[in-house]
Amino acid sequence: MNENTIQQIKELFSEPKKIVIVCHKNPDGDAIGSSLGLFHYLNKKGHSTTVVVPNDYPHFLKWMPGNETVLKYDSQTKESELFLNTADVIFTLDFNALHRAGDMEQALENSNAIKIMIDHHQQPDDYAKYIYSDVSMSSTCEMVYHFVDMLGDSNLIDASIADCLYTGIVTDTGSFRFPSTTQKTHIVIADLISKGANNADVHNQIFDTNSQSRLQLLGCALSNLKVFPEYKTAYITLSQKELDNNNFKKGDTEGFVNYGLSLEGIIFAAIFIENKQENIIKISLRSKGDFSVNEFSRTHFNGGGHTNAAGGKSDLSLKETTHKFETLLKDYKTQLNK
Ligand code: 5GP
Ligand code: MN
Repeated sequence: MNENTIQQIKELFSEPKKIVIVCHKNPDGDAIGSSLGLFHYLNKKGHSTTVVVPNDYPHFLKWMPGNETVLKYDSQTKESELFLNTADVIFTLDFNALHRAGDMEQALENSNAIKIMIDHHQQPDDYAKYIYSDVSMSSTCEMVYHFVDMLGDSNLIDASIADCLYTGIVTDTGSFRFPSTTQKTHIVIADLISKGANNADVHNQIFDTNSQSRLQLLGCALSNLKVFPEYKTAYITLSQKELDNNNFKKGDTEGFVNYGLSLEGIIFAAIFIENKQENIIKISLRSKGDFSVNEFSRTHFNGGGHTNAAGGKSDLSLKETTHKFETLLKDYKTQLNK
């Protein structure tokens, strides 16, 4: 963000404002962490802030301070719309195209509030008055840290804000191992710890609260693993029946796709998860190196994301979807073997 924009935003917030913070559908650690981190900061500055998310999120994110105030648009639509319709400012965090807000898309389009986008995905749409978009950032949480700093308020970052922002950085970087983790990321993390982030507790809350059924679901997923060494690709499937048999709960499949990528020699991994309720196959894609799963997903599976992590969906059956995927691999053989 340039000096002029920062100045304009400072002026905008020089008086108490009614602010709504929204994130993408099926919120992850970065979406909830950045939303609640920014929420605590704005409230500290004297604004009246509400976080509205499109739908529910996993249990392992519900320990975050402020969690109990979050409105879910799908189950609290009237109340959510009241806040959206009367907001002076709406922050959109961790997404850059309004359709990513799911059923909230229309309400966001209709709103006259000043919109501010903070996001690290590729190819941002142009719906916001102020756009802070940076694809080199590990996470939206890292960007919220810089945003607060740019406004001259890093001294206001307390332990609650630090825990929230730490969460999104650790989840989006795969615990600091993806290439998006930079020296700057570690400096931000160090500062968050110095400001009171309980790093060991946060890791424990996110990664060490497995249920027995989730581990059994992982066992099922791994037993479905298919490997294609000639394409340096591996994928996993989970049918609705397998999810039901293993007492699936939101968030249980988080991170499963990375097991495919952890195989020696594999640079492209996918997971296909059947969702009978929405009648779609939800797809997560991961890669190593230059192979862009963002491009792959945009082109073939109605999705997007980052170079090395993207998502998408398919209206075909699970079997047809994996067949389509296997057929596509042939077209990418050269790229995948570069
Ligand atoms: P995940 O596979 O963990 O759901 O998502 C990986 C990345 O891709 C995240 O940054 C997420 O925001 C993005 N993403 C996931 N699903 C979609 C989708 O359907 N459309 C777009 N544009 N991005 C997605
Ligand atoms: Mn993110």
